[in-house]
Amino acid sequence: MTFYEQLVLQSQQSFQSNYPIYAQGKTPIKLSTKRQDSYETQIEKFSQMINEAEYIVIGGASGLSAAGGGDFYYTDTPSFYENFGKFSKKYVFKGAFAGMQYPFPNRETYWGYLATFLHTTLNAPIRQPYHDLAAILNDKNFDIVTTNQDTQFIKTFDEDKVSEIQGDHRYFQCSNACTDDVWDATESIEQMIEAMGDDTQIPTELIPHCPHCGAEAFPWVRGYGNFLEGKKYQAEYTKISNALLKHQGAKTLFIELGVGRMTPMFIQEPFWTLSYNLPNANYISVNRDNAFIPEQIENKGLAIQNDIAKVLHDVRNQIVEIKNGK
Ligand SMILES: [Zn+2]
Repeated sequence: MTFYEQLVLQSQQSFQSNYPIYAQGKTPIKLSTKRQDSYETQIEKFSQMINEAEYIVIGGASGLSAAGGGDFYYTDTPSFYENFGKFSKKYVFKGAFAGMQYPFPNRETYWGYLATFLHTTLNAPIRQPYHDLAAILNDKNFDIVTTNQDTQFIKTFDEDKVSEIQGDHRYFQCSNACTDDVWDATESIEQMIEAMGDDTQIPTELIPHCPHCGAEAFPWVRGYGNFLEGKKYQAEYTKISNALLKHQGAKTLFIELGVGRMTPMFIQEPFWTLSYNLPNANYISVNRDNAFIPEQIENKGLAIQNDIAKVLHDVRNQIVEIKNGK
């Protein structure tokens, strides 16, 4: 098992045994009670830590996508109605994820919805926080680990630098997981969208199937059961594990962006463990709702509770100011 996956599994075990605490939006890990700096000071410190780091590891989660306007996942925002309105009018649900669980009347409608969901994320433009992050990381040595499946990171950065440990909307897998293969979904999605037009159903013959056993395909994403943890999954974990091992000893900055309270095991807690154990590591968390920093690493970092889009934009500007010698 790869190094990073071991960290995730450790955290998963802690999550299971402390579930009631997590379910209240808390953590069993003792948090710092130190008074946080003012926002302006935090942005200055953030920028300084970027400049001083020899190596940066970004952990990007759902709050980052939401901050950039991908806010249609959980509730009925204007962008939800814009992209999913024809479904939500007929079949009452709020938020794109709720649609993924909706009992549509037939497979043709189910796939009409699924294709719409995937098409929406795959064709979304690169959102502003990702542009700002790219500017911040410009000329830095960095790697990225993400639980986001929406392909924003791989649109923005070199794919070699991005480990997508929870799947990716560009791929299908067998819904029965009969094979280790994942395959390109994008062409099939385009065909479904085109054939559907203004309707909410696709033609039966366009429902994608596994080329090996004939079962229906399914997007290669965790969250709906049967997520394929095969070659592709292992390769993503190997990417981040090797990157971390290669940079042991470097002055490393871990930056956690938008981790939700019910999924601390993929980015947040592995970053806490690494920041604590690596003598040269520092840590920053940015979260709109809960920015946590454990007591054990309170002198190694910052917790910024604010809008991620705003924070990244302000840090970007601050770094430009420092470069211009202001
Ligand atoms: Zn199959």
